[in-house]
Amino acid sequence: MICLGIETSCDETSVALWDDGHLVTDLVHTQIPMHSVFGGVVPELASREHLRLLDGLVSSVLQSAERPAGQGIDLIAVTRGPGLLGALLVGISYAKSLSLSLGVPVIGVNHLYAHLLACDFTEPIEYPALGVLVSGGHTHIYEMPAPCEFNLLGKTLDDAAGEAFDKIAKLLNLPYPGGKYIDILARLGTADPRLFSKPYLQNDNCDFSFSGLKTAVAQYVHKKSFAAIDYAAFDVELIPQEIKDLCATVNETIVETLLEKTRRAVARCHDVKTLCLAGGVAANSHLRHKFSAFAHARGFKFLAPAQNYCGDNAAMIAYAGVQWAKKGLMSSMDFEAVPRGKIVPNDFIVNPFFK
Ligand code: ATP
Ligand code: MG
Ligand code: FE
Repeated sequence: MICLGIETSCDETSVALWDDGHLVTDLVHTQIPMHSVFGGVVPELASREHLRLLDGLVSSVLQSAERPAGQGIDLIAVTRGPGLLGALLVGISYAKSLSLSLGVPVIGVNHLYAHLLACDFTEPIEYPALGVLVSGGHTHIYEMPAPCEFNLLGKTLDDAAGEAFDKIAKLLNLPYPGGKYIDILARLGTADPRLFSKPYLQNDNCDFSFSGLKTAVAQYVHKKSFAAIDYAAFDVELIPQEIKDLCATVNETIVETLLEKTRRAVARCHDVKTLCLAGGVAANSHLRHKFSAFAHARGFKFLAPAQNYCGDNAAMIAYAGVQWAKKGLMSSMDFEAVPRGKIVPNDFIVNPFFK
């Protein structure tokens, strides 16, 4: 099955082509330099940028796959949500138009499930699996009993893990988005586990709350007057050791919190064969190391996408689309964007082209 994937949910415009389990081409254009001037994603600008870039990226992917007119494509997969409404609508409208013009089915994909299914790129996920999705907008733990099945066990009540990294980085005047910079500096620092308590562990659930940690760090930074230092040009040599130590502490606190709730989630599952870690924050080196060690100690397979497939990309969207299409499902032409909330697509229809 040849599938063209389109991702426009936030600040990456991406297009990819899969051909029978083989990723032929994928392009990711990040809008980070444009938004970083504002210290966060500006939704209106993101939508306009997707509109400006998407058609060119689709043409480039089709050209490099030697299918300039889209010949041979069996399916178009596009992110349905969650994400920014205007940004999603650009991708969905484009995908529907292309589907009509090529006469092939279109499928609206859950972006969060797609992040987790990117774990399959390197080695197959063995089910039942446990999926930990840590991204800019979500921190979700899913039981994944079988392919294409996701049961939510826990989620964040406020900030997502990536959001916590980014907001804390902002307090330290690090560039946007700051998760990556905290990760780099943490490797050069020494964590003090007594400085901040691991948030929201005094309960028996698998949910998270990271906003208190952000406040605790803000108070600490205020007390120490760190924020006066200007890090506009990021250079690790110029950054004082106490900031590196603080980054190591924050990193450790977030990673240990994620690990503790993951331990609880494992205890709630009947059987776990694979631990899947995905989403932009899964690029974090300390997080990958700790989760991999935990999985191996428990005898689970550990899978996380290669670092360049942790963040938003259309390869994961096309791949996820194929998994549902293989069950003989597709979306009807009137499917809508779902910017937030529960988006388990109950409205797939049986694909009349499916044999
Ligand atoms: P969602 O998938 O929830 O809709 P999103 O698509 O915006 O949100 P992603 O692109 O998956 O999120 O992830 C972006 C987040 O990952 C940002 O918060 C960023 O700081 C964080 N991130 C990226 N690299 C690292 C890293 N090495 N360490 C920690 N966080 C990181
Ligand atoms: Mg992004
Ligand atoms: Fe994402």
